[in-house]
Order: sequence, then C-alpha cells, then structure tokens
Amino acid sequence: MIEIRDKKLCSGCTACASICPVNCISMERDEEGFLYPVVDKSRCIGCGLCERICPILNKKKDEKIAPKAYAAINNDLSVRMNSSSGGVFSLLADYVLDNGGVVFGASFDEKFNVCHRFIDRKEDLQKLRASKYVQSDMRDSFKKAKELLDSGRLVLFTGTGCQIGGLKSYLRKDYDNLITQDLICHGVPSPLVWEKYLEYRGDGKSFKEISFRKKSEEKKKASFYIKYSDGAIYQRCPYPADPMVKMFLMNKCLRPCCYECAFKTITRQSDITLADFWGINTVYPKINDGKGVSLILVHTDKGRKLVDAIKEKMTYKEVPFKSAVRFNKMYYKCAFKNPIRKKFFSDLKRLPFEKMISRYGWGLL
Ligand SMILES: Cc1cc2nc3c(=O)[nH]c(=O)nc-3n(C[C@H](O)[C@H](O)[C@H](O)COP(=O)(O)OP(=O)(O)OC[C@H]3O[C@@H](n4cnc5c(N)ncnc54)[C@H](O)[C@@H]3O)c2cc1C
Repeated sequence: MIEIRDKKLCSGCTACASICPVNCISMERDEEGFLYPVVDKSRCIGCGLCERICPILNKKKDEKIAPKAYAAINNDLSVRMNSSSGGVFSLLADYVLDNGGVVFGASFDEKFNVCHRFIDRKEDLQKLRASKYVQSDMRDSFKKAKELLDSGRLVLFTGTGCQIGGLKSYLRKDYDNLITQDLICHGVPSPLVWEKYLEYRGDGKSFKEISFRKKSEEKKKASFYIKYSDGAIYQRCPYPADPMVKMFLMNKCLRPCCYECAFKTITRQSDITLADFWGINTVYPKINDGKGVSLILVHTDKGRKLVDAIKEKMTYKEVPFKSAVRFNKMYYKCAFKNPIRKKFFSDLKRLPFEKMISRYGWGLL
C-alpha cells in the first residue's frame, strides 16, 4: 500500500486515491498545507494498485526527443490580455469546445482557493484562463475525466507536468479522445500559505477578482491584482513585487517534490507544453508587443494536429528547440531549495501573516 515516507516522492496528483477499488485512500493536508494520500488500513485489501500506478514510483523513461517549438500569440487581443502569456491555452480549449468536448483546468472556487474543474461551455472558459501560482486541488478530476473519456467525449486535460503524469498513470491506457497539455512549471506553492495570505489581504472584506498577472493598456508590465467586492483595489506592479509572488518565485514555500521534479523530462507525457516565451527578442522580436508571447512545445502527433488546427487563429513562428528554452531553464531544471524553507514553515505555524511578509516577502529576483 502507498505510504509516504519521503515527501519528495509525492506530488499529490491523486492517482492512487482515484484508483483504489475500495476507496480507502483519502487526500489529507499535512502541516505545510500540501495534500498527501492517507490509507485507511482497516479497509485496505492489499491489492497494491496504488503503488503500481504511482507516476513517481514508476517513473517513465525520458525519450529525449526534442519537441517542435513555436513562438505564438492568440490573434484575439482581448483573450490574450486576460491570459498570462500569449493566450494559446484558450485556442486549444476553443477547438475542443467547438468539437463538443470538455476542458479540465485550474480555476478559483468561491473562496479563491485553487482547484481543478471541467467546463463544456465557452462562457466558462474565463474561469480556467490565467495562471494561479498555487497548487491546484485535483479533487475527483481524474475519475470524472475517465467517465467522460469512456463515454466517448473529447477531453482536453490541462495542468502541471505531475498532474498530467498522474492522469496518464491512473488511466492505464491510451485514449484517442484525450488531449493533454502541461506547462513549464516553476513549482507550486502551498495552498495553506495562499489561504493565510488571502485572510491577511482580505482583512474581513471579500474579493471580486484576483489576478496573479493582470495586464493593462496603461502599464507596460503585468501586476498582481485584487479587486474587492466594495470596489477597492490592491495592485503591485510588476507582479513579482507582491510578497506572495516573491515567496513563490524565491522558492520559499514550494511543495517538497518540486525541488526534485520527476516530470521535467525533455519529452513530456503531455501532447503539448505551454509556457511564457522568455527571451523572445532573441528569436522573433517582431511578435513581441509587450502583451505576452506563448512558447508552444509539441510532443506528439496528436499535439501537432491540434496546433495545426489552431494556426489560422494565431501569429506564430517555428523556432529551434534550443533557442526556445535558452532563457526558460525551468523546462528541464528544478527550483533550487531555498535554505530558509524549513524556518519559513515553522514560522508559518506561530507568526501572524503580517510578520511572515516582513520576514519572507522580500528578496531580489
Ligand atoms: C504553478 C505554475 C508555474 C509556472 N511556471 C512557469 C515557468 O517557470 N516558466 C514559464 O515559462 N511558464 C510557467 N508557467 C506557465 C505560464 O504561467 C502560463 O500558464 C502558460 O504560459 C500558459 O499561458 P497561456 O497564456 O497560453 O494560457 P493561460 O490562460 O494564461 O493559462 C491557463 C492554463 O494554465 C493552467 N493553470 C493555471 N493555474 C494552474 C495551476 N495552479 N495548476 C495547474 N495548471 C494551472 C490552466 O489549467 C490552463 O491550462 C507556470 C504556470 C503555473 C500554473
């Protein structure tokens, strides 16, 4: 049975909890706020399925085939302005929704916690749009995706590399009607830190909108942005000036497995990887209007067909893989473990969040 002895070896993907035939595995928060599987031993039948499908214990071999790479922007500026990078995710999602499919991705719930959900209407796409730099709770997304796939629906499943790896392991077979898209991922911060940050920032007020990277015509750079229900605004520009974003980018509160990520392979388990095109001016300056450019990496034939199908809705250029990731080392490198991480989490238990911010919400990036 699955037993987490070393937290570096669990991404919390939920594959084990989803596969258990007697539902005796639940995902429970540890003191840092990350979800881990916990087995009810009295109900476990010892089938060993949970261990056999764990995507980290059964790590896939990296084929090391360099993906095709593109710099691209969505031609619809209003969608791009509401996306973190070049808005390519929305093009993939539109294609799938136009073909009667469903799209899984990360959204905010009513309390602005981050969780996975699926949508099947274009009106709901905005909920999945834009990066939320917090670990997304998968809830029962794997089971729902399987049900939809088995019923023949086209499914686009999006998320971090570990979430896609987990889904693929859980499904245990290839589905022609499944398309997967992961991200170049810096790592995921603790949902508990995010909750405490929201409590501090809210100070009794409720939120109407939160954006980690709000773009605007007035400002050259994106801002961390909160709009409160009473119309008040909190904004930090550029977005890494916000203390929560700083703690994330300075690797102070990432999940333990992110420092040794098992999914940063050259050939990914996904069909497509999306990211920011850092260093765009060195390869295709003409496309860069300061409003975000996506990097698209295509790993499979299915991915290639999908990108071909959306090409008329984007401005793009194929670029060599090496130039594509030259300024985006997070494709293959893990975040370095900040030496103050341990102290950070022990302080989190006892200090008011205001103190956490003065102690940890700073640093040069
Ligand atoms: C935690 C995290 C770390 C990242 N780190 C990097 C990085 O180091 N370098 C880099 O180039 N790009 C990184 N990205 C990706 C980047 O921020 C954009 O999400 C990506 O370029 C897609 O942009 P877009 O404009 O096409 O679509 P957008 O509409 O901006 O993005 C939507 C997509 O992001 C997914 N998503 C949003 N939040 C989460 C989440 N919490 N967990 C899982 N999936 C999520 C949605 O499901 C959807 O697939 C990261 C994203 C996340 C969520």
